[in-house]
Amino acid sequence: MSFQSTGKFDLVICDIDGCLSPESHAPINESALSNIAEYNRKAVALNDRPLVTLCSGRPVSFVEAMCRFIHNTKIPCIGENGVWLYDPGSNMFEMDPEITTEHLEAVHEASKFLRKKYHARGVTEQPGKSAAVTLYHPDTEYLQSILPVVQDELLDQGWPFRVSMTWFYINCDLQHVNKATGIARLFAQTDIDPSRTAAIGDTLADKFMADSVNFFACPANADPEIQTSAHYVSPYEEIEGVLDILQHLGGEQISW
Ligand SMILES: [Mg+2]
Repeated sequence: MSFQSTGKFDLVICDIDGCLSPESHAPINESALSNIAEYNRKAVALNDRPLVTLCSGRPVSFVEAMCRFIHNTKIPCIGENGVWLYDPGSNMFEMDPEITTEHLEAVHEASKFLRKKYHARGVTEQPGKSAAVTLYHPDTEYLQSILPVVQDELLDQGWPFRVSMTWFYINCDLQHVNKATGIARLFAQTDIDPSRTAAIGDTLADKFMADSVNFFACPANADPEIQTSAHYVSPYEEIEGVLDILQHLGGEQISW
């Protein structure tokens, strides 16, 4: 399955947390989200604008739900920082074939190890991940304080993880899987031309997205460091910023 528009871009690959939904656990702005759905319906009906799909570190079931909310019926979205592709056209989920049984065992062992060490201190694991361990604690400063320790502990065990921090979570992801490998699989499956794609992100992990596409944009709330990779930074925050970026990409005539 592919998608082509008569405009400059065929596809916009959008992060979720801090872009389409608030960075915090606050409610999602459903009227703005319905604007994205309307925008996507028009993309499919008129072929005059790039379609919006998703690339997120969230568990793939959350990404699938968001994909259906925004009425992307054509192009796969990416969950769990590249671990999964979900194709809304065929309803198929595909884990990166480069993830072996040994990798999944390392994830399981790391999860047990971190639970044993940090559960009593109030650190919980985000449910629903298949090949990554994501840690949460209500006190973000505490979570930040254990980041280097967790990094060293996983390294000492010889497990192949990349440990990074988003605003509220520690992500322990398999080293060889990231948003860029997910996007490469998406391109391979859809014949979409990378030079006709754009991405939207707000944290450093989204550098993998910026490096995979022709045009990268951020909402105003994005980490200042990732903003240096952007061709356009919206003056608006989160989903309002995404709507502004879509207008910027599509030109004045694009509406929802
Ligand atoms: Mg984000």
